[in-house]
Amino acid sequence: MEIKLAKNMGFCFGVKRAIRIARQVRRETKEKVWTLGHIIHNPQVVRKLEEEGIIAVDDLSEIDTGYVIIRSHGVHPDILKRIRERNLKEVDATCPLVKKAQERAKQLISEGYETYVIGERAHPEVISIVGETEGKVRVIDSADDLKIKNSKVGLVVQTTQSQDNLNKVVDYLLPRILEIKVFNTICDVTSKRQKEVKKLAKKSDVVIVVGGKRSANTSRLAGIAREEGCVTYHIEEASEIKNKWFTDVERVSIASGASTPDWIIKGVIKKLKEIDANKEEVLHERRVKFCN
Ligand code: SF4
Repeated sequence: MEIKLAKNMGFCFGVKRAIRIARQVRRETKEKVWTLGHIIHNPQVVRKLEEEGIIAVDDLSEIDTGYVIIRSHGVHPDILKRIRERNLKEVDATCPLVKKAQERAKQLISEGYETYVIGERAHPEVISIVGETEGKVRVIDSADDLKIKNSKVGLVVQTTQSQDNLNKVVDYLLPRILEIKVFNTICDVTSKRQKEVKKLAKKSDVVIVVGGKRSANTSRLAGIAREEGCVTYHIEEASEIKNKWFTDVERVSIASGASTPDWIIKGVIKKLKEIDANKEEVLHERRVKFCN
């Protein structure tokens, strides 16, 4: 069985940066260190950080004292206000590219564009973009959600959206309005991985996408591979892999989300190699029996 790996795997720079900041705060203080929500969408990494004393909570009310790390997706400004009101110490680990998307949305609003963000309404990053524009930017999933009232429309995009989705919205808008201004805020890491998984899916019987089930960018990679008609499994770790997935399979590819650590990817590669070695052994035994 041929096992191909995507070139771009493991943590992206925004995730590395957020984890580095959290660990640095942990090292430098004896006070409690918290993250509001998971610092990145990977449960294994969140568990590891909790063992180091960086605790994830769902709500600010669960935090009494200490440092609050703002995770890579950013937060709604109301949360920042509450953190400050409660005299907690905030440390901003928002990815600079998420900040850029927030800034671009504010710019479009200030320039008088009817502004939309293409993304998932409930995703923390999108909530932060909406919050930064005081609710003036509207969230759309696709062109079907558009209800244009103005002749000038501005667009920004959740950093992990697919290029195809952005293209569809732009194609829909172009013949219908006078002016459109688009900031393609899809992050470079995301677009590279999306292009790669698309190519890999075309040449594979099975694609394994490794990463958190709640990770938007990982789920998108799995979605893209499926759209190519390839059998695709989205897993968080090697223990989820089943031998039966690879019966009569000759070409397998592995891709990973931006919040998947190397040690999990290595575990997946190891497991696939073991499965392949077993398959070879069974085939060999069959050939020997046949010859006898
Ligand atoms: S995927 Fe892109 S936007 Fe998201 S944290 Fe990584 S670098 Fe930043």
